[in-house]
Amino acid sequence: MNLQDAATNYVFDPGPRVALPVAGTDLLFPVHRIYCVGRNYAAHAVEMGHDPNKEPPFFFQKNPDNLVVGGEFPYPPMSSDVHHEIEMVVALKSGGDSIAIERALDCVFGYGVGLDMTRRDLQGKAKEMGRPWEVGKAFEASAPCSPLVPASHIGHPAEGAIWLDVNGARRQTGDLNQLIWKVPEMISYLSSLFTLAAGDIIMSGTPAGVGAVNRGDVLHGHIDGVGELEVRVV
Ligand code: MN
Repeated sequence: MNLQDAATNYVFDPGPRVALPVAGTDLLFPVHRIYCVGRNYAAHAVEMGHDPNKEPPFFFQKNPDNLVVGGEFPYPPMSSDVHHEIEMVVALKSGGDSIAIERALDCVFGYGVGLDMTRRDLQGKAKEMGRPWEVGKAFEASAPCSPLVPASHIGHPAEGAIWLDVNGARRQTGDLNQLIWKVPEMISYLSSLFTLAAGDIIMSGTPAGVGAVNRGDVLHGHIDGVGELEVRVV
């Protein structure tokens, strides 16, 4: 049976589809999967104790329902070291397998400002024990995101400041031109591993300066030409 055809036979109400708002409109972008790129800025790889010349970036995933649109980030349980990672979010309107780098930007609907919130203590323990990262990365509300801005309005940003302030103090700074895997490359690489689809989003990696958050902190992220994201830790 094709799972898509079973829409009237659910044993319980599946609830609303996870979606991100499109800035300046009442339109919604329905989310399929969330892929994340690890260590995609050299300075961040170095601050995490890795050599970007020896270890290329890599992928992990979050769950679509880990997304929250700005507002509040509830401090998660089982951690006392939750970090902010400001990242540009790439939202796909089409996908496929083995997408050529030259065609990859055709798949992009738009861009957003996101946070890859991370239970660093649990991620560190997982790394140490050779275990998967989900407990550190894919927890409730771990992916705050701004409304998306369509590429038809802003183009495809390849340079420009990306930064994060915590309570008004600058903590993370970088430039999109420092991405190791550029947006077309990350789409092409991903499509060699997975079948990409409309609704997939990619969190493109974080610049240096990651650090711990506390309840009451106000996180303000910015990407030139893309937008702003404000989140309060509660
Ligand atoms: Mn990240």
